[in-house]
Formats: sequence, C-alpha cells, structure tokens
Amino acid sequence: MNHNIAIDGPAGAGKSTIAKKIAEKLRVIYVDTGAMYRAMALFLLRQGIDPGESEKISEKCEEAEITIRYENGEQVVLLNGENVNALIRTEEVSNMASGSSANPQVRKKLVRLQQELAAREDVVMDGRDIGTCVLPDAAVKVYLTASVAVRAGRRYEELTAKGEVCSLSEIERDIEERDRRDMTREISPLRQAEDAVLIDSSDMSIGEVVDAVIGLCVWK
Ligand code: C5P
Repeated sequence: MNHNIAIDGPAGAGKSTIAKKIAEKLRVIYVDTGAMYRAMALFLLRQGIDPGESEKISEKCEEAEITIRYENGEQVVLLNGENVNALIRTEEVSNMASGSSANPQVRKKLVRLQQELAAREDVVMDGRDIGTCVLPDAAVKVYLTASVAVRAGRRYEELTAKGEVCSLSEIERDIEERDRRDMTREISPLRQAEDAVLIDSSDMSIGEVVDAVIGLCVWK
C-alpha cells in the first residue's frame, strides 16, 4: 500500500518545517518540490531569461537536468550536477520560480521527476499541486495554511534572526503576490484537493500541527 503524504499550501505556511519533522518521525523521505522549481528558476536566471519570457523558458528548460540526493538526511538539489542548495533561497529566485512554475514544460518535467521519486519509496512531499496533480492517490493529503499576517510575521522573524534587515509590510505584499500568482495560474493552480484535510496553523504550534498530521496516518 502507498503511504505517501501530500502537503500543499501557500508560501510561508510552514509546510517544509512540518514535512521534515514528519519524515523524521515516520522514517520516510522528505521531498521539497519547491526547491526543484527554485533550481529551475536559477538555471533560467543564469540564461538571462525574464519571468515573462514564456517561449524562451519552454525552450531552455529542457537543458536543465534537475536531480536530488540526500546527504545526512538533507535533500540536496543538483542542477546539471552542481549542488545549488545555497543559491536558491534569494528573493530573485523566489520571484523567478513563482513565474516560471506556471510554464507547462517546466511543470511536466518536474512533476515526472516527483512521481518517479514517490513510486520508488514512501515520501512526504510538499508543494502546491501534490494532492491535486502529482500524487492524486496519496494516502494522506493536507492543505496547510495560515493567515497572511501570521505567515509574513514568521518570515520576518526568520530573516531578522539571520541578521537581515527587512520590512514586514514588504514581506506581506510579496506573500500576497506569490499566493495570487500560484492560485490563479492556468496549470495546476494552488487549491485544496477535495479529499485533503485543511489545517490552519495560525494559532497552532509546530508540535500541534505535526501531531495533527501524524494522527491522519492511520497505518502508524
Ligand atoms: O515552496 P517554495 O516557496 O519553495 O516554492 C517556490 C515556488 O515554486 C512557488 O512560489 C510556486 O510558484 C512554485 N511551486 C509550484 N509547485 C510546487 C512547488 C512549488 O508551482 N509543487
């Protein structure tokens, strides 16, 4: 029986934090699909392509070979053999990823890779279209969200803890813009799958969310 767990939701809802902890507890592999879209975005930026140049994106994305491997339990994303983990969390890459992920060729390529991974072993996979498109037969589907104010506040804390100077209102605007793009794109827009359980983490601790998801995994 497949024991795959799909976690979807908007930017900053805490999907990766939760998914990592679940992977540890259930001893399954964590697949961060956003990192794959980010690696593709980095590749396109390096080619000098803008987020709006859809024809160029369709053509060039075929030259990017994206694979993942695991080092000490951490997912490492390889772009044409290069470890790009340290390069894909910038605002520039976030914005390019949000634009280029709407491209059908990009999605086709990365969805295939994600489905191959899940066919090989049990995974907890997070993204925007996992329950609706990548793993429609996942054993557990969660739609994890939180209010825009809470999501922006978490991101702000994260950045200031790293010593970065940032503006809360700018982060909030950025999150709203990425949500809008992800939810209104034509292919695989972000939405809750009909059989997904909605978890609003606005007033929940990380531990409470993890317990709620594990509670859905009836085989454990
Ligand atoms: O989750 P993360 O913020 O790293 O994702 C970066 C971007 O990749 C998102 O804004 C979204 O546009 C795209 N994405 C997607 N489908 C997924 C995962 C991410 O379109 N399954």
